[in-house]
Amino acid sequence: MSDFSLKNGVLHAESVSLLELATTYGTPLYVYSRAAIERQWRAFAEYLPEPHRVCFAVKANSNLAVLQVLARLGAGFDVVSGGEIARVLKAGGQAQRIVFSGVAKSDTEVREALQLGIGQFNVESRSELEQINRIALELGVVAAISLRVNPDVDAQTHPYIATGLEQNKFGIAMAEAVASYEQAAQLPGLNIVGVACHIGSQLTQIQPFLDAMDRMLDLIEQLAGKGIQVQHLDMGGGLGVRYGKEAPPPVSDYIQALLHKLSTRKRQSLALYLEPGRAIVANAGVLLTRVELLKSNKIKHFVMVDAGMNDLLRPSLYQAWHDIVNVQPRQGCSIQGDIVGPVCETGDFLGQNRSLVVQPGDLLAVMSAGAYGFTMSSNYNSRPRPAEVMVDRSDTYLIRARETREDLWRGESLIP
Ligand SMILES: *Cc1c(COP(=O)(O)O)cnc(C)c1O
Repeated sequence: MSDFSLKNGVLHAESVSLLELATTYGTPLYVYSRAAIERQWRAFAEYLPEPHRVCFAVKANSNLAVLQVLARLGAGFDVVSGGEIARVLKAGGQAQRIVFSGVAKSDTEVREALQLGIGQFNVESRSELEQINRIALELGVVAAISLRVNPDVDAQTHPYIATGLEQNKFGIAMAEAVASYEQAAQLPGLNIVGVACHIGSQLTQIQPFLDAMDRMLDLIEQLAGKGIQVQHLDMGGGLGVRYGKEAPPPVSDYIQALLHKLSTRKRQSLALYLEPGRAIVANAGVLLTRVELLKSNKIKHFVMVDAGMNDLLRPSLYQAWHDIVNVQPRQGCSIQGDIVGPVCETGDFLGQNRSLVVQPGDLLAVMSAGAYGFTMSSNYNSRPRPAEVMVDRSDTYLIRARETREDLWRGESLIP
């Protein structure tokens, strides 16, 4: 079931008309469906009761209200900065349920995280082991850690979102993993609790996850041979979603395949941790944008809209596809062309070679914009960032006000 559907010829989010939302809040506008977020969360959580754990990857969508909805359902959170930790706590999430990932944590972030009592660190280098140990000893605490190991499997996804290959900056090479764990075991400020990996994002096959899992389970056996026991295996995030023609496996198939792998490898006592981001929020959000102008030259038609790459970067950064539809579909001749924003960059497009029946003033919905949408937005070209609203059945909440002109230079000053 989709939470964005046509009712009387107008696209709605749950029971709320997107035309009305655009009139009330203006465009560009991010709209999220609470029911969609909750359903996707439950699709994971239902198959992974304690001691398993699902940690929402905050970088996919860090709006406080989105985090609050998930925190109320008992979510764990995967974070990559001190700022994300602060957001989770502000939204009512528990420090104990936070996993802190990231390749270059600052001393300040590590210190704060330890003082706040976050659940654990996923450590990405041997130098980071020394760093966390040093700070934990200074504070007189012991830091729970997993090492993020690079299983060197090909996730078969866009190169910018493949992270589990030897050539990527993330994690520790498998060849170094045992030695790194032995080093960690010697450091008195650290307590080894698990092993972790994250092989990439927007994976539409289960097999690369299973290949990675086999390698991680081999590692866990080798560690046991050295007297190092772990309680959980964190397989990261990365499950893909349907943006256009992709056919990712259902969440349940994916989790059952992972759990099945644990049992065929006689490792049922290990807790499985997952860190989904996209799979929970991507299809729970849309970006509404208004058609400003139409323009054609000898070879191309352009539909110029009021949302640009600063509002939704994915098409420009990853050549990502988003379905783009009329909020109120109309009859008539379709235009075949590029849907482009107002930003002064050739790469500023939301879609290329699309077929749409549009007039200036029409409202378009860029679908599947709930993940890596607002969180990657910027003020490039001095464009205030869009507002965000959450729909809950027939209720609407403004969960982030549209930025104003003054917001654009907040913190700046003129010199005397
Ligand atoms: C980005 C990231 C995730 C989430 O990835 P999705 O593809 O959004 O599920 C999970 N874990 C880590 C370490 C990440 O960097």
